[in-house]
Amino acid sequence: MPEKIKVKTTIVEMDGDEMTRIMWRMVKDKLLLPYLDMEIEYYDLGLKKRDETDDQVTFDAANAIKKYKVGVKCATITPNAERVEEYGLKKQWPSPNGTLRGILDGTVFRAPILVDNILPGVRKWKNPIHIGRHAYGDVYANSEIEVTKPGVAELVFTPADGSEPIRKVIHDFREPGILQGIHNLDSSIRGFATACLTYALDQGIDLWFGTKDTVSKIYDARFREIFDEEYETKWKNRFEAAGIEYFFTLIDDAVARVMKSEGGMLWACKNYDGDVMSDMLASAYGSLAMMTSILVSPHGYFEYEASHGTVQKHYYKHLAGEKTSTNSMALIFAWTGCLKKRAELDATPEVGDFARKIEDAALETVESGIMTGDLLLVAEHDPRNRKVYTEDFIDHIRENLEKKL
Ligand code: NAP
Ligand code: MG
Repeated sequence: MPEKIKVKTTIVEMDGDEMTRIMWRMVKDKLLLPYLDMEIEYYDLGLKKRDETDDQVTFDAANAIKKYKVGVKCATITPNAERVEEYGLKKQWPSPNGTLRGILDGTVFRAPILVDNILPGVRKWKNPIHIGRHAYGDVYANSEIEVTKPGVAELVFTPADGSEPIRKVIHDFREPGILQGIHNLDSSIRGFATACLTYALDQGIDLWFGTKDTVSKIYDARFREIFDEEYETKWKNRFEAAGIEYFFTLIDDAVARVMKSEGGMLWACKNYDGDVMSDMLASAYGSLAMMTSILVSPHGYFEYEASHGTVQKHYYKHLAGEKTSTNSMALIFAWTGCLKKRAELDATPEVGDFARKIEDAALETVESGIMTGDLLLVAEHDPRNRKVYTEDFIDHIRENLEKKL
């Protein structure tokens, strides 16, 4: 056996729940630990441990990411009332992802993992379309009124310094209707712009952004202005040097152009656009298990994970002693993403090379027809295609990896 590859800086590892916790162990034992000599700071974000520590473990993990800059996370349960009962929890703990995002001040980017034998719903798409969703304000933090009788609706801003309020008539209602008030903050938009520009440069891809600034001349226009300002003053030179561009257009034009493109860009979306478009992209690319997720903070922290949840239904089958065919691709790519980032920051190209070999081995496995059940449903028909169990899939990847070492 050749010598293990040394990972220079400590990896922040966050374990999780249910089926993904089972696969996480397998991925580590079979694809990583035999080949890598790495220091790990381990945080068990499994629900039991979060409950035992009053969720302190999640805060500790976030602070460790601040210290080392890079972390990798398994999927975790966000408890609802049923889970409180199931696990006998002290309380309904908040989503760990929400806690991490809050502390690291990050934006979540999603990108599909593409293989030759699973064609996207849109035939022209050849390269992954990455999506970044602004996760603050707009309709998600709105105030709404149901109008039941005639009356005037006004938008009023009352300055804290006692100066004259600003009023604008929204509508003079003569019949029943509805009303909504929304807001956003310059600082949040700027943080989002910074995260998008950071991510696009990091991945070496163009950045696209669209709003409805022709209609919304103050609100949507502000998003455009802040993105422009950040780009022009801080990023233009770096983008030009990397041969990539920042492109702004109307949101409807952006949608039309994305459908006709070959992909390969980061699409920055306002909150609602990102909510809708990320689900459209995930289903257009075939399987939830082929989508990775990266939390990028404007302070330079990176956290890698799968987009899917803990695959609860498969876990209950597993507990009942049945064999499952659960797809570990997104978890594997979370680890390789983390290792590649570590390699870049530590200037240890051998670590990045190894991570890419795991990725190639995983892609080749699926492309050779060996796949989990979710992929068999969406793969191009081929007599070689066969469905394998969860652990066998990882074993096949290991065989392919061994051939590359
Ligand atoms: P899920 O884990 O994403 O799974 C939903 C369904 O998608 C599965 O039942 C399965 O479909 C399919 N699927 C997802 N990942 C798969 C994989 N790797 N391989 C094969 N099939 C896969 O969502 P959920 O079951 O609704 O949620 C379970 C828990 O996950 C919840 O407690 C939720 O809080 C948590 N969650 C966590 C995160 C996160 O940590 N980032 C994100 C979302 C949800 P079939 O059953 O049809 O095979
Ligand atoms: Mg959605």
